Parts: sequence; structure tokens; C-alpha cells
Amino acid sequence: MAVDERNCIKVDRNQSTNIDGVFAAGDCACWGMQAATAAGEGAMAALQAYRYVRRVKK
Ligand SMILES: Cc1cc2nc3c(=O)[nH]c(=O)nc-3n(C[C@H](O)[C@H](O)[C@H](O)COP(=O)(O)OP(=O)(O)OC[C@H]3O[C@@H](n4cnc5c(N)ncnc54)[C@H](O)[C@@H]3O)c2cc1C
Repeated sequence: MAVDERNCIKVDRNQSTNIDGVFAAGDCACWGMQAATAAGEGAMAALQAYRYVRRVKK
């Protein structure tokens, strides 16, 4: 999985990593390093994972 120079997992604005179907959120992606941002990113990652599974299953 791609990480940056701080060893943080690289994600795009949909919390997608460089691996298809793998999402990351919260401190491991090092964006906000706060509980509220981790929760928001986690919600986005879960939504995108749901969409990914729905897409792949069809
Ligand atoms: C001392 C301290 C004070 C803080 N105070 C605040 C504050 O006042 N306000 C605020 O907004 N934020 C605060 N933060 C930051 C906040 O706690 C984090 O940003 C937030 O918890 C990140 O959530 P997360 O889900 O990404 O990671 P975490 O909450 O760290 O959750 C990661 C989970 O993964 C588990 N885990 C790790 N490795 C594995 C593995 N191999 N297999 C399975 N499970 C694993 C861990 O046990 C943990 O339960 C504080 C942080 C610290 C350290």
C-alpha cells in the first residue's frame, strides 16, 4: 500500500488507497489526527466500501 514520507497511508478524497477496494481513514492516513476527522473519514470510507461491493457484485 502506498504511503507518504511520514508512513501515512495515501488516500484520495474518497478515502481510496492505491489498492482497488481498499480504503483507509483516521490516524493511519494522518490527515486531521482528531477524533472528529477520524469519524468523518471512517463514514466516508464505509460508504465508499459499500458502493465498491455493490459495484463488484453486479
Ligand atoms: C493522548 C491523546 C489525546 C488525544 N486527545 C484528543 C482530543 O482531545 N480530541 C480529539 O479529537 N482527538 C484526540 N486525540 C486523537 C484521537 O484519539 C485520534 O485522532 C483518533 O482516535 C483516531 O481514530 P482512529 O480510529 O484512526 O485510530 P484509533 O482510535 O487509534 O483506533 C485504531 C484501533 O485499531 C486497533 N488496532 C491497531 N492495530 C491493529 C491490528 N493489527 N489489528 C486489529 N486492530 C488493530 C487499535 O487497538 C485501536 O483500537 C488524542 C490522541 C491521543 C494519543
